[in-house]
Amino acid sequence: MFLNKREIRIPLVKPNLSYEEADAVRDVVLSTWLNEGNLVKEFETRVAEYIGVKYAIAFFNGTAALHAILLSLGIKSGDEVIVPSFTFFSTVSTVVHVRATPVFADIDSKTFNISPRDIEKKLTSKTKAIIPVHYGGLPADMDAILAIAHTRNLFVVEDAAEAIGSQYKGKKVGSFGKAGMFSFTPTKNITTGEGGVATTNDSKLARMLRLYKDHGQEGIYYHVLFGYNYRMTEMQAAIGIEQLKKLERLLTQKREVVREINTNLQGIKNLSLPYEPSDMYHTYMLYTICFKDHKTRELLRIGLAEKGIQTRVYFPPVHKQPVFKNSKISLPITEDISQRCLSLPCYASMTDEEITYLTDSIRSLLK
Ligand SMILES: *Cc1c(COP(=O)(O)O)cnc(C)c1O
Repeated sequence: MFLNKREIRIPLVKPNLSYEEADAVRDVVLSTWLNEGNLVKEFETRVAEYIGVKYAIAFFNGTAALHAILLSLGIKSGDEVIVPSFTFFSTVSTVVHVRATPVFADIDSKTFNISPRDIEKKLTSKTKAIIPVHYGGLPADMDAILAIAHTRNLFVVEDAAEAIGSQYKGKKVGSFGKAGMFSFTPTKNITTGEGGVATTNDSKLARMLRLYKDHGQEGIYYHVLFGYNYRMTEMQAAIGIEQLKKLERLLTQKREVVREINTNLQGIKNLSLPYEPSDMYHTYMLYTICFKDHKTRELLRIGLAEKGIQTRVYFPPVHKQPVFKNSKISLPITEDISQRCLSLPCYASMTDEEITYLTDSIRSLLK
């Protein structure tokens, strides 16, 4: 059930944008320099510093960044790339766009992240890369994934679209793999409207990423490969710089909100709350809960919508999309979780009243 804007009492997300971002964009416009320039460079430097990598390359969106990463790594027709299905479509579509074959691995039922054990079952002599997704801001099991990749000489590309600031054993995601990708759409913890970044410590890869995002130009009108126009604008970068300054505060506030929601929903039978292992720092781009069965989930989804509370199923499995209609892929855990899960409103500026209204509504609907 979709809600009209007027009927929404509590939205799923509320981007934290204010005068700082508005002023920054105004300054860009008045400067008359709108396409990639100094602000994009500054944004890249700040992201690289924050994540703890040598290079960050800005893109118009996260999907473009991921596409350019796969191209730069030379992933091509005949190669297989292991991906989760419990993710946004572009984790998979970018693999198809470089004419490689996405091979789906199932997830862990507690973390909703790709299962290393299932990755091992999906390996073949054609496997070239693994793309773990840090689902909703919870880091994937990087030690296990990197170990598999190391023994088989595979690339690990982190789809960290949902996880800026998330940490695995004290280290930020996006710094583990050969490359990482972040997205800044309005549902993510910080936004530039559309926007993305690729991260890496490899100078050769960084050079290729810069070529692919700018028509393969090594100098002006000097094209060394068939690239794309995936450049970020100065308006996006200006917003991104202001958002980065607020990021740590937003994440702390969001985790406070999560603690409150958790407390209010504690102890409800047959309801599982988000899982956060003690050695990880979860940034809760998504606050996803699971009900005992599909029927209860649907009851809650519709009931909450009637109360003006916006929710969403993140994600209907990619392998069940019409584009895969003739495939016989089976991923029992992904299919089961996607039938029972629901992502609730959760944002840094959520008030106590909004939290109470949300959690009381869930309790009363489950009675
Ligand atoms: C948002 C998202 C993307 C895509 O990012 P865009 O910036 O919208 O292109 C890719 N993967 C995951 C897991 C995402 O959540």
